[in-house]
Amino acid sequence: MLERTGVPTAEQIDSVFPSEDRLAKGPVAVIECYQNIPCNPCYTACKRNAIKKFEDINDLPNINHDDCNGCGLCIANCPGLAIMVVDATYSQEEVLIKIPYEFIPLPEEGQVVKGLDREGQYVCNVKVIKILDSKALDRTPIVSIAVPREYMKVVRNFGI
Ligand code: SF4
Ligand code: SF4
Repeated sequence: MLERTGVPTAEQIDSVFPSEDRLAKGPVAVIECYQNIPCNPCYTACKRNAIKKFEDINDLPNINHDDCNGCGLCIANCPGLAIMVVDATYSQEEVLIKIPYEFIPLPEEGQVVKGLDREGQYVCNVKVIKILDSKALDRTPIVSIAVPREYMKVVRNFGI
């Protein structure tokens, strides 16, 4: 499916998600990089060595979720927009998801926007909590959105 549509299957998403135990400990990166391409800025960006050294530049990133503290440094460094940070401890009803967002205009903090799945389909409304706009540093802005817990693995983007 991924090769045909660019959209991963639920099994592929499960395979890159941290365990429930790790999710319960706080923010952690989810790396949705499913295809072997010559690229490794996620590895060089991670100061905690949570992402294992690439033996070959075409390797898929291999993250040890226990060594990741969810700092999010790798998000803006990934040219494929393949990384998000999930904080499942945000609240009882919602998880906080930090995603790279390349569209303009940026939303406002506090704004309710349309949460979209990996195919760009509407899933549910989500609230923008924080915006880290690093365009001045030539980095992709990072937007934190509060997502209903049941859609943690479904919402991957948003539209205004
Ligand atoms: S979120 Fe931070 S600690 Fe985790 S993999 Fe990315 S750069 Fe490393
Ligand atoms: S930087 Fe992004 S696209 Fe490149 S290998 Fe890492 S996760 Fe994949």
